[in-house]
Amino acid sequence: MRAAVLREVPGKFSIENVDLDKPRGEEVRIRTMAAGVCQTELHIMEGRNPALLPTVLGHESAGVVTAIGEDVTHVKLGDHIVTCVSRFCGECRQCLTGHPSLCHAVSTGRAAGAPPALSQNGNSINQFVGLASFAEEMLVHERNTVKIDRDIPFDRAALVGCAVLTGCGAVFNSAQVRAGTTVAVIGCGGVGLNCIQGARIAGALRVIAIDKSAAKLALAKQFGATDVIDASSCDPVAAVRDLTLGGVEYSFEAIGLPSTIEQAIAMLSRGGVTTAIGMIPDGATVRVSGADMMAERRLQGCRMGSNRFRLDVPRLLELYKQGRLMLDELISDRVDLDSVNQACAKLKSGAAARSVIMFE
Ligand SMILES: [Zn+2]
Ligand SMILES: [Zn+2]
Repeated sequence: MRAAVLREVPGKFSIENVDLDKPRGEEVRIRTMAAGVCQTELHIMEGRNPALLPTVLGHESAGVVTAIGEDVTHVKLGDHIVTCVSRFCGECRQCLTGHPSLCHAVSTGRAAGAPPALSQNGNSINQFVGLASFAEEMLVHERNTVKIDRDIPFDRAALVGCAVLTGCGAVFNSAQVRAGTTVAVIGCGGVGLNCIQGARIAGALRVIAIDKSAAKLALAKQFGATDVIDASSCDPVAAVRDLTLGGVEYSFEAIGLPSTIEQAIAMLSRGGVTTAIGMIPDGATVRVSGADMMAERRLQGCRMGSNRFRLDVPRLLELYKQGRLMLDELISDRVDLDSVNQACAKLKSGAAARSVIMFE
């Protein structure tokens, strides 16, 4: 099968022929139908986050089950699925207390010593987070998958596996935004836009979108922002404090920079909570002042929207069917696998909401 292989960082993908093993045990083989291009791939290509090389990236995907291992129970041949990086074991303390996205009892990918899922001429190729969806086929653990209805288009379903799950999950699960409250979102890319529409669905009174791109702020309005702040021409903290008479109850940071997380804390009212969603570079630290803590301002991390994806993905897709969750508008481009480098360049330029690689 054809796959986009990353051999060095910083570097670019090359489209190569790669071998995929057959499913064993609880593994599922999937024909990839759509794969979103996420900031995570960009971070890895640019060397800002580590990865084992060579590797096939891609984690926001949807497809059709073409083969199953002997122990698979969740899906059968022909089922449509969405993948998620948050594999859960179902038995550890995190899983049993309702936090399957924090499960640490299982690692992604195959166990050490097992034959590689991905290889080329007998040489192993790293399967990114046990998924690797920048490829015509995937071999994944069934607990990285959720079955979806057949009437959901694959491109839109794919985005629910990461950007939508993360952005909406940050609002619904991590922060648990209440109706009538005030919200600010810093960064209006794929995840930030979903934070904004999550806050709209949750009934927030005021949803303030902050970005430096006029195009992204225009999209933010479409997704439910009641106010927009162009951070390239003003101090966003002062602007938010102005708009809300002293600060918001919830702020979200969807970029992954200590400086913008600190701004997100500074724009909180007393007792407010900042949810940091973006991928923070390894080794970076965020400063929180004693005065903020004394005012009961809180900072919390958010891993993949604190998701319970087998529950969340079908719910989000139902909200889409009802016309309350916007997915069509999230997709700015549909490209083929050969255009993956251009799609990443476009994401870096800040032009795209989301490019989706289509395989048919
Ligand atoms: Zn992602
Ligand atoms: Zn677990």
